[in-house]
Amino acid sequence: MGPISPDWDLVVVGAGPAGATAALAALRAAPTARVLMLDTADFPRDKVCGDGVAPHAMDVLAGLGVPVDDLAAGTTPVTTLRLTSPQGMQARRRFARPAHVIPRALLDVRLVHAAQRAGAVLERHRVRTLDQQDASVLIDGSIRARTVIGADGAESVVRRQCGADAARTGTLAIALRGYTSAVPWPADEQRLVMATANWPAYAWVFPVGDGTANVGYGELIRAAPPTRAQLTTRLHELLPDLPPTPLRGHRLPLSPGRPGVTHGRVLLAGDAASLINPLTGEGIYYAVLSGALAGAAATTPDPARTYRQSLRHRLGKHLRHTDLLARFTRRPWLVDVATAAARDDQRAFDRLVEIGLGAGTLDIPLCTAMLTTVARRRQRGP
Ligand SMILES: Cc1cc2nc3c(=O)[nH]c(=O)nc-3n(C[C@H](O)[C@H](O)[C@H](O)COP(=O)(O)OP(=O)(O)OC[C@H]3O[C@@H](n4cnc5c(N)ncnc54)[C@H](O)[C@@H]3O)c2cc1C
Repeated sequence: MGPISPDWDLVVVGAGPAGATAALAALRAAPTARVLMLDTADFPRDKVCGDGVAPHAMDVLAGLGVPVDDLAAGTTPVTTLRLTSPQGMQARRRFARPAHVIPRALLDVRLVHAAQRAGAVLERHRVRTLDQQDASVLIDGSIRARTVIGADGAESVVRRQCGADAARTGTLAIALRGYTSAVPWPADEQRLVMATANWPAYAWVFPVGDGTANVGYGELIRAAPPTRAQLTTRLHELLPDLPPTPLRGHRLPLSPGRPGVTHGRVLLAGDAASLINPLTGEGIYYAVLSGALAGAAATTPDPARTYRQSLRHRLGKHLRHTDLLARFTRRPWLVDVATAAARDDQRAFDRLVEIGLGAGTLDIPLCTAMLTTVARRRQRGP
């Protein structure tokens, strides 16, 4: 491999869902732009994740010309969600639109190839330093870009190099996951089993549709972070049918701890910008949406302003509402009420899914459904 060419219109650090989508969006807006993706990893590579891909993420990618069937090849869409609340209440309903479970070893390389087909160049390189200069950014002393997109994930070097705040206590979660082929659960059903202890915390079963399922457990990190053994024990307590399964862990920077998303000529997207839903741990939709907006903004005369405005337009209200809900859902009884509302009312279920997987907001029909549930529970007594 020769030296990396020194001059670029856009350098995207990290070629996960946020980075590959950013490169795609930039080239869609400006097909002759010189776009470089830098990643420490060779693709295909695994990424510790639940692999749940919301239809909202597929919409963003389809809008950039990526065929959804190609992205999801080899997997089967999941039609149903079963929720078990902290007190053991159950809600099982059909999704308004099926969700996909696409192992990241498949999804990410497919997105990288789509970006390469559009004209992006991928180089294997670990970024260590950024130097913001008058009209450009110098990366590692030798690669110069008009704009840089930091899409280098939860432990982002770009974010740190920009001096952005690190995620604060109470806004970081940790989760571990594995794959099992001994699946004693229905193959067309995603499961979330919420814990009472160490709340907020839940285990999941996400069937891929090829006879395997992604299984895992995550919780909010407190002052004393949980050990791997504790997390494993908690997973097996919530999923007692799960046979011993090799597990890998990773941290999740949740959106209530998000930093400023622009720093001069550097834009942050995906996990690097702490864009993970604090209620569900979903980050792929935010990653591809923020990546798409950052990539398109990079081709405009004022990338930082354009990106801030477009992100605020698409996610601003949703993020304010999930910030608020994240504070309230520290009380498990509210999650019991939400689960009961979802069980009793398809519209409440659909709206909760929108908030957890997409850009939904708290609205009057959802609040009414939850208040009705509270009133019914009061009438019935304890
Ligand atoms: C256990 C677990 C389960 C999850 N389950 C789900 C789920 O089911 N659904 C969902 O939507 N989200 C889920 N998430 C969140 C989701 O994984 C992330 O939000 C998503 O991966 C973010 O994409 P990204 O492109 O921002 O970052 P990443 O996917 O982390 O990609 C970052 C890329 O940057 C590269 N990189 C890192 N540092 C450097 C560097 N210095 N130089 C160059 N390259 C670098 C990495 O190699 C990597 O390829 C889960 C997370 C965890 C931990």
